[in-house]
Amino acid sequence: MTTKHIKQNKQNKEASFNATNNATSYDVLIVGGGMVGASLAVALIPLNLKVGLIDVYEFGVAEQPSYDDRAIALSYGSSLIYKGMGLWDELASKTTPINKIHISDRGHFGAARLSAEQENVAALGYLAESRILGKLLYDSLNKSNIELIVPATVSNIEEVDDETGDHTSHLKVTLQQGEQTHYLKTKLLVGSDGTQSKVRELSGIGVNRSEYNQAALIANISTEKAHQNQAFERFTETGPIALLPLSDNRCSLVWTHDTSQGREQLDATLALDDEAFLKKLGDEFGYRLGRFTKVGKRSSYPLALVTSMQNTAARTVIIGNASHTMHPVAGQGLNLALRDIAVLAELICQYQSTDLGSEKLLKDYESLRKGDLKTTVRYTDSLVRLFSNDNFILGHARAGGLMTIDRIAPLRKWITRQSMGINYRQSRLARGLALRNSKEINLNPL
Ligand SMILES: Cc1cc2nc3c(=O)[nH]c(=O)nc-3n(C[C@H](O)[C@H](O)[C@H](O)COP(=O)(O)OP(=O)(O)OC[C@H]3O[C@@H](n4cnc5c(N)ncnc54)[C@H](O)[C@@H]3O)c2cc1C
Repeated sequence: MTTKHIKQNKQNKEASFNATNNATSYDVLIVGGGMVGASLAVALIPLNLKVGLIDVYEFGVAEQPSYDDRAIALSYGSSLIYKGMGLWDELASKTTPINKIHISDRGHFGAARLSAEQENVAALGYLAESRILGKLLYDSLNKSNIELIVPATVSNIEEVDDETGDHTSHLKVTLQQGEQTHYLKTKLLVGSDGTQSKVRELSGIGVNRSEYNQAALIANISTEKAHQNQAFERFTETGPIALLPLSDNRCSLVWTHDTSQGREQLDATLALDDEAFLKKLGDEFGYRLGRFTKVGKRSSYPLALVTSMQNTAARTVIIGNASHTMHPVAGQGLNLALRDIAVLAELICQYQSTDLGSEKLLKDYESLRKGDLKTTVRYTDSLVRLFSNDNFILGHARAGGLMTIDRIAPLRKWITRQSMGINYRQSRLARGLALRNSKEINLNPL
């Protein structure tokens, strides 16, 4: 899939890779070609900038960690962002719409119901299989002028003054490709290299890490009754269970397990034969969709909240999991990252004829993203902590809370809009519009 680009890199650029002075220059270098880095690269295609996308893995290989068996709930807001990038028409036909969300707490009365009809939109969100999303992103990149630099890792980043004498600078990026070391120059570096981000580390950006002592077990499941495009979020004593509607009447299961006493219980559930697994799931989730009838491949992910102390450093911006890795309970991680992308792409568009990576761009990015990042991380973290607690009083408080959400229209509206990813100041992409060259960034307050 990526051969064209690797060969192109080898033929055209290898000679100049080795000498710093002749190092290939980029306007934007993106490190990490997972769902976030690849989406940013696709967003930048219309701008005609020189953009390179670096990843440890060749695109399309099975080991690529971002494109695994996960199904991702894309919010309505994210569908608009992909629409602005020109990808939505094709992606939509490969997704399953979510028309209703039902939130409940096992052992307590009270439920909250969110619906697309109430919000007057076609769907609250859409389920996309991450492998399918990945294929679509790379098909677009393959047809574009974005250079795919794979497999490669970044081993050093250094800010160097330009030789023009006008007090501008660039980053010199050291790249390892097997035994070989290459050098690239860029005006702006974007770190989308995941939770253990090397770009973040090399840029000196600190992180806060807080363990949930939980792991998410994921699998695709079939049920006796049709899901009718409903998503379910059920909080249980052991942790939340999410069932999200997929095609062919399957559901994507995200079943959180407590690992505070070790992984034994999780490993035992992973190892159950199918029949015992389906029965155990039914006992925990209930029979709202009838019996569980079939389960696919199971896998698990350890869960922690990892947030960076800032999102910018010299000529560098970090986005996606590199900036914020969250619990999947509310399905916000990629959706939040797509809003990072929408704002960053608009800033790159605005600054493209001046100095990409200037302090002004970095400052604008921090200030435009501050509110959404803080609100979304807090919202997700509070859900996890409130619903992971066995405390009797908290149990009643959250049952009361769910009933309150169901009955108080403005609160339900806020939560619905948060789930839909439209509670924020909106960039052009986030309004479903293509990037447009304009002098002023025009982020509409809602
Ligand atoms: C079980 C589960 C369910 C989820 N469900 C949802 C959901 O429903 N909705 C939602 O919005 N979000 C969801 N998320 C969150 C979502 O998956 C993440 O937000 C998203 O995958 C982050 O993508 P990323 O590209 O930032 O990072 P990653 O997916 O980690 O990708 C990082 C990329 O960087 C590359 N890389 C790493 N190190 C280097 C290096 N040194 N040099 C070069 N390349 C490097 C890797 O190969 C990889 O391609 C879920 C997460 C989990 C675990």
